[in-house]
Amino acid sequence: MRSFSWRRAVIKVGSSLIAPNNNQCSPLYLQAIAQFIMSSRAAGKEVILVSSGSVAAGRGKISHKHRPSIAEKQAMAAIGQMHMMANWAALFDFDCAQILLTADDLQNRTRYVNIKNTLRELLKNHALPIVNENDTVATAELKVGDNDNLAAYTALVAEADTLIICSDIDGLFTDNPRTNPAAQLVGQVDAITPAIHALAGGAGSVVGTGGMRTKIQAAEKCAKSGIQTLIVNGRRSEVFSQLAEGQCSGTLFVPTQTRQRARDAWLKHSLNSKGSIVIDEGAKRALLEKGASLLPSGIIAVQGKFVAGEAVNIEFNQQLIAKGLVLYNAVDLQQIKGLKSSAIEATLGFSVGEAAIHRDDLVLI
Ligand code: GLU
Repeated sequence: MRSFSWRRAVIKVGSSLIAPNNNQCSPLYLQAIAQFIMSSRAAGKEVILVSSGSVAAGRGKISHKHRPSIAEKQAMAAIGQMHMMANWAALFDFDCAQILLTADDLQNRTRYVNIKNTLRELLKNHALPIVNENDTVATAELKVGDNDNLAAYTALVAEADTLIICSDIDGLFTDNPRTNPAAQLVGQVDAITPAIHALAGGAGSVVGTGGMRTKIQAAEKCAKSGIQTLIVNGRRSEVFSQLAEGQCSGTLFVPTQTRQRARDAWLKHSLNSKGSIVIDEGAKRALLEKGASLLPSGIIAVQGKFVAGEAVNIEFNQQLIAKGLVLYNAVDLQQIKGLKSSAIEATLGFSVGEAAIHRDDLVLI
């Protein structure tokens, strides 16, 4: 057992837990997961679900040959997604919110920011976001393809500190435990080396898409960004009481650097600034001393062309003091600079929030 702590987690639940018989949803394994989600929220933590199972849940509803066609699968997903959501919603007394994504949505800057803002708003309002791939519109080229990697991307966009992958196996093993009884559970992984990838082998269960290979890929994406990943057995209810006590009975992948570090480095070094924002003395102090968000009221000038979600320099007295991701494009910022946040809506006809740059998207230089 490894100890871990967390504040915001993405919990990924695989098809074999949602639809254990591969043809319809069952609450069998979901009750313990739901209990864990409720007790975590009651303890002030934030949870986002990534739930598979739409295709499996709709399988019995669409007539098909042994191997369904793409259109048949997409039709299954369209029906199954409703069942999957209803299945979750029945377990909670708060709102569940459906978010369907494709790879495209995660690559497009503006849509990425929209997803992030929506998640932020849902969490603020205590709803439970439930993410799945938009299987009815995405074909192979447009897909993330498996929900393990989708969950890793979700953890990144949601700025989670933890990804918990609930599978039908106890964790990562030194060999396939289904064929080799001597295989041992790996309790902790400190670095995802080629040897760790080699342990993963091919796809595992027949219901989901992933197997261990995509779980390791997901853990690797997260580790690089300072997010810890846990792989646990979602079929065993005691696993979730242990998780609630901060104990991981499966495999814990330790991040290779802190989240703040990874994010700062990414903002500072990997992103080119598309423009700059000149701020006043008051805004400078708020940024440097209070770690506050940058509000339009503190902006004196806007230079360059940029869209929402791009990086810009933040300058005071011709000195670069910070870099951040803007929530408004250059044209809109020109119009709201110097204004109180309460005037954003009336000026632009919309508002994506009171800040021009949220403090989580800002690195001081
Ligand atoms: N998005 C797929 C579904 O809901 C699942 C993909 C996966 O299992 O990784 O059926």
